[in-house]
Amino acid sequence: MRIVVLTGGIGGARFLVGVRAHARRIGAEVTAVVNVGDDVRMHGLQICPDLDSVMYTLGGAADPERGWGRVGETWVVKEELAKYGAEPSWFGLGDKDTATHLVRTTMLTAGYPLSQVTAALCERWQPGVTMLPATDDRLETHVVADIEGERKAIHFQEWWVRYRGAVPTHRFVFVGAETAKPAPGVVEAIAAADVVLLAPSNPVVSVAPILAVPELKEAVANGPAPVIGVSPIINGSPVRGMADRCLGTLGVEVSAAGVGALYGARSGGGVLDGWLVDTTDDKTDIPGVRVKAAPLWMKNEDLTAAMVASALDLAGV
Ligand code: GDP
Ligand code: CA
Repeated sequence: MRIVVLTGGIGGARFLVGVRAHARRIGAEVTAVVNVGDDVRMHGLQICPDLDSVMYTLGGAADPERGWGRVGETWVVKEELAKYGAEPSWFGLGDKDTATHLVRTTMLTAGYPLSQVTAALCERWQPGVTMLPATDDRLETHVVADIEGERKAIHFQEWWVRYRGAVPTHRFVFVGAETAKPAPGVVEAIAAADVVLLAPSNPVVSVAPILAVPELKEAVANGPAPVIGVSPIINGSPVRGMADRCLGTLGVEVSAAGVGALYGARSGGGVLDGWLVDTTDDKTDIPGVRVKAAPLWMKNEDLTAAMVASALDLAGV
């Protein structure tokens, strides 16, 4: 069996740990198509937060407390940059992480596409799944917000990390998405998949930028494989993170039903065949979509693998 997962960073990475565990049990192959909308160049380094969250988590090197970056991280480079007054100072650039960004940036500068750079980095981390960036092209999520009384578009990282999303926010723009092409292997993986899963990632700033790549959306929406989404919202709460702020900006209710309706039924121009919700949300009804309830707290690998089994069950594969 072939499983494709569309994923963001931390939430998606935790989900992929369960996907990988279940896939090992049933002998399935997994391809993760990872959001690149958070990617940003800082201090001359190309930083790919979601790719790194997935790679470090599956590689067993993520910091479990912080949720992002490397376990046992040190911060000498960040402190030294601050002593120079080098901006941005609000971004958490760890020393170990910096080595990853140096290797990546050197390879990108030498002309390698991000997909090949990612494959090269994964030789070290052996994530056990094929990791593909959604696109090799520039695709950045920007946020239109009022900053100190002035409306401007800032990079998603600045909105998220510096302002914690706590500024009047109007919309999200996926710069470059319309002309971006899926990275090599993405459309092929989706076309050959037995099931496509939407990780319980942030629907607005993790999954939406992936689906903003036109040929990628087309492959998912019109492909042969059933598409099953897993709700990132449990009982009206985003569990961890700030999905509620993102959904609020779009005027979407922070609920399993709200996010399910945002993705929409394939039959109605959306992407979903099935929507897996938490048992507390078992009354959820999305027109044109099969809804199933299962415990969706990703407390450990076994519980997460059980979620994946429920998703495959819903897909009928
Ligand atoms: P990011 O890119 O690092 O922000 O991570 P993602 O977008 O992949 O995932 C963030 C989302 O994961 C959050 O908005 C939460 O709604 C969701 N999430 C986190 N933990 C859990 C969990 O245990 N269960 C479920 N269902 N969703 C979760
Ligand atoms: Ca992210």
